[in-house]
Amino acid sequence: MVVYAQRAKEAYKGVPVVIGGIEASLRRIAHYDYWSDKVRRSVLPDSKADLLIYGNAERAIVALAHRLAAGEKIGEITDLRGTGVMRQEIPDEWLEIDSSELDQSGRLGPKRDPYQESPDCSESDSDTSRVVGFHQRPKAEDRSKCVVRLPSHDQVSDDPVLYAHASRVFHLETNPGNARALVQRHGKRDVWLNPPPIPLETEELDRLYELPYTRRPHPAYGDAKNPAWEMIRFSIPIMRGCFGGCTFCSITEHEGRIIQSRSEASVLHEIETLRDSSPDFTGIISDLGGPTSNMYQMRCKNEHVESSCRRLSCVFPGICKHMNTDHKALTQLYRHARALKGIKRVFIASGLRYDLAVRDPEYIKELVTHHVGGYLKIAPEHTEAGPLEMMMKPGIGTYDRFKRLFEKYSKEAGKEQYLIPYFIAAHPGTTDRDMLNLALWLKENGFRPDQVQAFLPTPLAIASAMYHTGRNPLRKVKRGKESVAVPRGTKQRRLHKAFLRYHDAENWPLLREALKAMGRADLIGNGKRHLVPAWQPAGTAKEYHERGGAAKPAKRQVKRGGRKTGKIGKRRAKRKPSRHR
Ligand code: SF4
Repeated sequence: MVVYAQRAKEAYKGVPVVIGGIEASLRRIAHYDYWSDKVRRSVLPDSKADLLIYGNAERAIVALAHRLAAGEKIGEITDLRGTGVMRQEIPDEWLEIDSSELDQSGRLGPKRDPYQESPDCSESDSDTSRVVGFHQRPKAEDRSKCVVRLPSHDQVSDDPVLYAHASRVFHLETNPGNARALVQRHGKRDVWLNPPPIPLETEELDRLYELPYTRRPHPAYGDAKNPAWEMIRFSIPIMRGCFGGCTFCSITEHEGRIIQSRSEASVLHEIETLRDSSPDFTGIISDLGGPTSNMYQMRCKNEHVESSCRRLSCVFPGICKHMNTDHKALTQLYRHARALKGIKRVFIASGLRYDLAVRDPEYIKELVTHHVGGYLKIAPEHTEAGPLEMMMKPGIGTYDRFKRLFEKYSKEAGKEQYLIPYFIAAHPGTTDRDMLNLALWLKENGFRPDQVQAFLPTPLAIASAMYHTGRNPLRKVKRGKESVAVPRGTKQRRLHKAFLRYHDAENWPLLREALKAMGRADLIGNGKRHLVPAWQPAGTAKEYHERGGAAKPAKRQVKRGGRKTGKIGKRRAKRKPSRHR
C-alpha cells in the first residue's frame, strides 16, 4: 500500500490520493509489526497519501466525494469521522489532552494543567518506579473539541510501557458515541485521527447490498482458481461489527463494536438474487453470517448508556446486563431463508458466540436441527483461566453448557453431529502448564486436532500489544513488576503447538523433554492416563533418532493398538467416528 500510494502520487500529480481498507485501517497509528519485529510508523506519512479512511468507509467516501465535488481542497477536509490526516499543529479551538493524564504511565507527580499547550509525555516517563495514576480533569469539557495526544512514534518504539499505554488509550477511544480525536507525533508532524464513523442504520446497510455487484472475482483473475472467492461465493453477510472484544482479533478496530444488521427482507432478497442469477448455484447457502454468526440485531438496550460506555467488551468478564441477547430475529431469519423456493440447505459457518447462544436454547435447537452439516466449529480458544482472561473469552464451563444443549438437540433431531473446538497456542498469558492442562483436556474429551494455530500478532490488536510489550493494556498500564507471560521464540511456540497435537509422534520427543522439565514425567508412558508414550515409532521425529533415541519394534506397535496398522486400531477406527479436525 505504501509503494502503490507513492507511485500513484507520482503518476497523477495534483490528484488526491486516499488510502483505506483493512491494511490502512489497522496501521493507522504507530503499531507493532510481527514480520519485521518492529514498531512501525502509521502508513499515512509513509504512503504520502492525502487522507486515510479507516473502518467500513461508506459514510466517509460519500461525504468526501461530495466535498471534493463542491470544490473543497483535499487538504482542507480534516474533520471527517473515520479518517486520518497529517497536521503540523493542533488548531486553536481544540483542547489537547496528554494521554498520560488519562492513564499515566510514569511518575505520580503534581497535577498537570489540562490546558497546557503541548504537554510532553516523556517528562513523566523518565521514572520507572512509580505507578499509573488518573488525574482529575474538568468535567464540562466539550469532547467533540478534545484531542488526546498519544505518546509519539519514537516514544512507543523505544518504550514498551508507553506502547502498551498508547494501545490502551487507543482502544478506549473507539466508541463512536464518546470517542475523542487522537493525535500522535511522527517526526515533525502529527497523525491526526478523527473519531470512528457513526454505524450505518439498517436501511442504509440494505441500500449498500442492493447495489449491482457482479458477485464475481475481479476480471484480472481470468479463469484462475480463486479459493477465497470459492469460500464466500454462496455465503450471505447479515451483519457487521462485533462486541466480543477478543484481544487477538482486529475486527473491532476495523468494523467497530456496535452491531449493524441488514433487514430480513434484504437478506432474503439477496438469496433469491443469488438463486436466480448464478448458474452454478445448487440450492445451498454456505453461510448466513458475519464477524460472528449470532450477534444479528443485538445491541445495547439503552442508546444513552451505549453512547457513554467505555467498556472494551459487552460480553467479558460476563454478558453486560444492558445487552439485548434475544435470538428471535435470527431464528426467524433462518426459518424464512430455508423456506425459500429452490433453497435446499442453509448452513451456518461463521463463528458462533456460544456464551450468547446458551441464553436462547430455542436458537440452539433451530441451529442444530437445520443448519449444521455434521460438524460445528466453535472457538473456546483455551480451557485455562489465565490465557482466557488475556483473550477476554468466556470460561470453558460455558462451552460445556453449550455442548450439552448441542448434543441434546442433535439427538432429538436424530443426527450424529460433533462440535469441533478451536484453540490458540502461545497466546500472551499462556504458560507451559496452561498448555499441558489444555492437552490433558483434549485427551480426556477425545479430541485430536489436525490443524492448529499459534498466536500471530496482528497490527493494533490488544494481544499484539501484550506480545510486544509483555504488559496488559486491559488494565491501567504500570511500570514495575506486573507483566504478562508471553510465549516467545521458536522453541516455546513449537512446544505450545505440540501440546495441541499431543497425539502426533513427531512432537513426542519435545513433549517428553518438556514434561520432564515441568516435573510431570508421570504423564510419559503407555497407559490411558499418560499423555505421550515412552517409545518412538520408527520413521518419526528424525532428529530424535539421529540423536540416538530408541525406536519401538514394529511388532509391539501393533499389539498396543496402532490406529492404522494393528487390528485393534482398525476395530477402534470403525467403532468411533472421527471427531478430529
Ligand atoms: S453498556 Fe453494556 S451492552 Fe451497552 S455498550 Fe456498554 S458493555 Fe455493551
